[in-house]
Amino acid sequence: MPEGPSILILKEEVQQFAGQTIMEVSGNSSIDIHRLKAKKIVAFKTWGKHFLICFEDFTVKIHMLMFGTYRVNEQKETKPRLHLQFATGEINFYTCSIKILEGDVNQYYDWSEDVLNENWNPKKAKQSLDKIPDEMICDAILDQNIFSGVGNIIKNEVLYRCFIHPESLVGKIPSEKITEIISECSLYSFEFLYWKKKFELKKHWLSYTKNSCLRCNLPMIRKYTGKKKRRSFFCTNCQQLHI
Ligand SMILES: [Zn+2]
Repeated sequence: MPEGPSILILKEEVQQFAGQTIMEVSGNSSIDIHRLKAKKIVAFKTWGKHFLICFEDFTVKIHMLMFGTYRVNEQKETKPRLHLQFATGEINFYTCSIKILEGDVNQYYDWSEDVLNENWNPKKAKQSLDKIPDEMICDAILDQNIFSGVGNIIKNEVLYRCFIHPESLVGKIPSEKITEIISECSLYSFEFLYWKKKFELKKHWLSYTKNSCLRCNLPMIRKYTGKKKRRSFFCTNCQQLHI
């Protein structure tokens, strides 16, 4: 599943079409795609893993789900869910979820929840974590209304960097460690973005898919943790379990 930084890369790639009018539209999406024809794109936005195509009085929301892909100025062999043709090029989306949001897009999103947004608010994340002391930190970090944009790779890397066991309970983790985790979620997301653009993301993974701990030279534990049952990679020697 693409994480927030990958959606930000998509936004940068399609920036060439901002302000342009859609000449042709097609695809097997269930939304009324003809509504988009001859409309001008006011802006492209992102909120976490949501990619937003904003028009004057409505917004097309695209969620890549697990296997969603896109192509800019080229096509895949399969039929796109949504194809947008402009005077100077095209965008194609495949196997994604597409919905329409009516009216002003700002009423649907709190931009301060997005770790890559200029309005990201770490204090708000702290307040949200304070309300869920009994949750495991591995679930809390993946909560898109606290850390919008953070996916499973970022979760693992942040917890490894902060020396925290993924099954630790939010309320039992020392306050300064919580502050560090919140800060790392945003910082690592920007590093992810930087490395991904240079096609060297994997090279920088310290825990994700790793067999042994780089710090301890001991085997990494692989386990589906938390309510969300997402894969965690961790070292029980240096990542402390707070319960
Ligand atoms: Zn270790």
